[in-house]
Amino acid sequence: MTFRALLTDRDAAGKVSSAVTEIDDSRLPAGNVTVDIDWAGLNFKDGLCLTGGGGLVRAYPHVAGIDFAGTVRDSADDRYAAGDAVVLTGWRVGETQWGGFAERARVSADWLVPLPHGLSTRDAMVVGTAGLTAMLAISRLEAAGLAPDAGPVLVTGAAGGVGSIATALLAKLGYEVAALSGRPQHAEALTALGATSLVDRHAFLAEPDKPLESARWAAAIDNVGGQVLGKLLKQIRYGGAVASIGNAGGIELQTNVLPFILRGVSLLGIDSVLQPFPARIAAWQRLAQTLDLAAYGAMVREIGLEDLPQAAEQILAGEIRGRVLVNPR
Ligand code: NDP
Repeated sequence: MTFRALLTDRDAAGKVSSAVTEIDDSRLPAGNVTVDIDWAGLNFKDGLCLTGGGGLVRAYPHVAGIDFAGTVRDSADDRYAAGDAVVLTGWRVGETQWGGFAERARVSADWLVPLPHGLSTRDAMVVGTAGLTAMLAISRLEAAGLAPDAGPVLVTGAAGGVGSIATALLAKLGYEVAALSGRPQHAEALTALGATSLVDRHAFLAEPDKPLESARWAAAIDNVGGQVLGKLLKQIRYGGAVASIGNAGGIELQTNVLPFILRGVSLLGIDSVLQPFPARIAAWQRLAQTLDLAAYGAMVREIGLEDLPQAAEQILAGEIRGRVLVNPR
């Protein structure tokens, strides 16, 4: 048996490139569940894995793709049987393990969750790692005291995958959402998702920097890191919190302690990769109940395996709007 996959390889000069390749089943990695993939998602990390960035992929040839949804083909684990619909996100699949940019994957049953009730496999990849992480961030902020009457919540990188789903989820949950984006051309789409105000990233960063700035936001979900995170921390209201998810704008963080010691601000780190099973199930259930998939539909684009190398460059350049779904067939 063979299947199609986007095989990523590195040549003697260190150049990383990918091509759609017919692969024999015998080359699938070790694992106790084999999944026929319906849909995979494109995430920022996939951009890195497909271009050799970030040192995430250690062994070549490689199949990237950090999340996918599909149907169990065969299983040696009691928790799953042939025909079950499943979702995988995280666990370094697509980085240190072969991932979802293929018609088939073999993984550990420990990494799967059953397809959440009410979602199709396509819906699950509209949500994907991006939506799961956005939901984890919102729940973490709420556990730290955030509630809809607390005031506006700033979402950075708002036109991207995590940012756009965070915007839609917060709005649906009754929060006032300020969407920070470097791309004014997507303002209308962000307003349609429920953003009540738009913050231009370039104007935001151009404002003079002070050790402590006007307290504007009850909380923030940050997908960008770098200068943006450093600045927004100084604008969080008394007792507020920031969920740090991403580094699309850089890994550095330059700030000072005043927001923490004078306003009691908290900086909460969010990781979706190693979340335990019960936390994943809870987040997926809340996502299935909360996200208006029909309203989010305008933010979704479908591509094939052969389109991925170009899409990888686009996501690293901050040019992707919303979510890109990969149909491997
Ligand atoms: P996307 O590329 O879809 O979104 C990132 C957004 O960040 C862009 O759309 C853009 O938004 C903004 N951006 C891009 N480049 C820059 C820049 N140089 N400076 C400032 N803003 C920039 O990626 P994802 O949504 O998939 O991921 C977002 C981040 O979250 C990534 O860093 C990713 O690795 C991380 N992540 C972390 C997870 C975790 O478990 N902690 C899970 C999932 C993602 P706009 O044009 O609107 O400004």
